[in-house]
Amino acid sequence: MVGSPIDGKQHALNLRGRVKLAVDNLKMHHEITPGLAVVLVGNDPASEIYVRNKGIQTKEAGMESLEFRLPEDTSEEDLLRKVRELNDDKSVNGILVQFPIPKHMSQQRIIETILPSKDVDGLHPVNAGYLASGLSGMVPCTPQGSAILIKETASDLSGLHAVVVGRSNLVGKPIAQLLLQENCTVTICHSRTKNLKEVCLSADILVAAVGIPELIKGDWVSEGAIVIDVGINRIEAPEKGLGKTRLVGDVDYGGVIKNASAVTPVPGGVGPMTIACLLLNTLVATCAQNNIEFSKLGF
Ligand code: NDP
Repeated sequence: MVGSPIDGKQHALNLRGRVKLAVDNLKMHHEITPGLAVVLVGNDPASEIYVRNKGIQTKEAGMESLEFRLPEDTSEEDLLRKVRELNDDKSVNGILVQFPIPKHMSQQRIIETILPSKDVDGLHPVNAGYLASGLSGMVPCTPQGSAILIKETASDLSGLHAVVVGRSNLVGKPIAQLLLQENCTVTICHSRTKNLKEVCLSADILVAAVGIPELIKGDWVSEGAIVIDVGINRIEAPEKGLGKTRLVGDVDYGGVIKNASAVTPVPGGVGPMTIACLLLNTLVATCAQNNIEFSKLGF
């Protein structure tokens, strides 16, 4: 069996289109334009690209995009002051501080200073608690995007065995919670897991969120499994020329697609879903802050 690639770009395009229609409804019936504020500290080149793309796609969805660029040597207190200012600003419905931030700042303190209702990254412990309790709150974007891809690939997840490799607060744990909500039987693996290959082989749904290039091999995947590769790793690519690099996931795509029923490629799989879910979260946050029933926007 040779599986199919899961086209994350197309799924993300569809989702952004639906968000835009709902934003148009919000503007027409409630005269509200959602506002997303993104704060970037320093000049990390990858972050610059992410922030630029977020800005473009926010505007395309009909939302207000606000960007705040702070120098690398900004003090933590100044960044926290900026976040509190945005918390108090009624025109801002969602706040995202682009990570990584400079080493002299505490990521956790920044996360905990953002109002949970404006925490469109879904990283505040209050939102993590809502997710773990099965209550509605802000769900982290990459896990949410991964769960959407899984649900759109397999119609009924109930009773399937989902194996999540990685247990970070950003990716692994929230994906596991979302799959549990879909009635999967969930196993979470990490760096101390024994017999990782055997555990992966028992998966109907395998999610890799590790950060090790092509860790998951073709013979780690059982026939017909759905494989979601969250990893983004830049590796050397001498075949493209001296000093050239390319992106790969945590999964050996060429090997895995021979056994799996469907696999997300890297790039073009989970990645594009992240911004689409950020826009969705901003819309959901705007509705909650204005006591508007999200479901009535025709989403
Ligand atoms: P972290 O480094 O925070 O977590 C990695 C996890 O992998 C940890 O739980 C770690 O275990 C586990 N791990 C490490 N080595 C092994 C191993 N040999 N076997 C099994 N488990 C292992 O990474 P993130 O969760 O933040 O990110 C994971 C990947 O996803 C990265 O490649 C990142 O770039 C990518 N990513 C992609 C996004 C997207 O938009 N597509 C967004 C965010 C991340 P332990 O806890 O024991 O240390």
